[in-house]
Amino acid sequence: MSTILDFRIAAKAQHKKTKYPLDIPRVHTSDLNADRRCRRKAYLGSYMWQNLARESERQNDKLWFGSGMHFVMEYYHGYDMDPQYVYDSYQKAWPEPKRPDNWEDLAELAAGMIHYYTTIWLPGREFFPIARKSDGTPMVEIKFEVPIKHPITGEILAIYEGQFDGIVTDTHSRLWVLEYKTAKQFIKGHLDMDFQMTAYTWAAKHMYEKDFEGCLYVQMHKSFPKDPLVLKTGGLSLNKNQRTSYRRYSAALKTYYEERLGTKIPMERYHEYLEYLKEEETPDADKFVRRDFVYRNETELASWEEQAGYQVLEMLSRTTSGYFFPNPTRDCSWDCDFQTACLAMNDGSDYEQMLGEFKQRKDRYDWQANLPEKFRELAA
Ligand code: SF4
Repeated sequence: MSTILDFRIAAKAQHKKTKYPLDIPRVHTSDLNADRRCRRKAYLGSYMWQNLARESERQNDKLWFGSGMHFVMEYYHGYDMDPQYVYDSYQKAWPEPKRPDNWEDLAELAAGMIHYYTTIWLPGREFFPIARKSDGTPMVEIKFEVPIKHPITGEILAIYEGQFDGIVTDTHSRLWVLEYKTAKQFIKGHLDMDFQMTAYTWAAKHMYEKDFEGCLYVQMHKSFPKDPLVLKTGGLSLNKNQRTSYRRYSAALKTYYEERLGTKIPMERYHEYLEYLKEEETPDADKFVRRDFVYRNETELASWEEQAGYQVLEMLSRTTSGYFFPNPTRDCSWDCDFQTACLAMNDGSDYEQMLGEFKQRKDRYDWQANLPEKFRELAA
């Protein structure tokens, strides 16, 4: 039984400044990922076909906060703007009824993360500057489009679209694609095989016709260290479970002993604890922020290009056949918004009614239109 609503490919160019014909399908990383997870899910939710998302007045807090922190990093590193002002401007650009329910908690979280990153984590660590175009424009939030070609004939099958968070150079002037993530938990084991890291390195290499080493993957933990507890008996707590870092704890020791008590820090009391905190940190990571250099070699990039070509070929053939079979797994309950409609498609219920709560993503709220003028001038 066919359980399809409409076989059209919905994907059109994401932005007006495209150098490729508008009738070539557009594909994103999320479409390729969704298609690998489940054809039906991809058909309903991905940009390439129905592009449906749940309609809700309030934004999803995880996505909304992540987008705000990306915006902060773009204007802080790209244009030297006060990061707290950038976050406040982002927040104000959203009318209160559209913000997530917990937007006030998120504002506090953002302030703590921004303060820690800019005043404690970054100073004293090696800094990798944002690359600049010949006219001085910083290379941040760059939309890209690169053709995915037929692996044998070389014909263009689709245009791979996306956005780099930035391009940075290292101390040897090598190029890296910058990618930020805000997360409740750091992940690193997957980076060697991460699909997006490979795809973005490949896209940057083709777009700029330059060698790229890979991606600089910066993860920001959704928490921030607090000042250590001051004990009733005097001195700072040595509890290993408290949320702190070597640098934050060292700064707190100075404040407590040198500024508040006017005495020297009794290092014999804190030496072992400071060593413990130090061991938890590296030049690129602590418990709150970590950056990883994710290398990709030529063979990996060529392999990705071939895989993407064959995958898009298959995706296009599904558009022709009009059949997108499901792939039910134990993850459906948490990783798919379409579970109820999917079940209805299987048992003959009215799935169209269930899809009524979704609408096409193209109608998203344009919050950027509400930003202060200076943001639009810089990004123009
Ligand atoms: S519920 Fe599972 S099988 Fe159904 S569309 Fe979603 S991911 Fe696919």
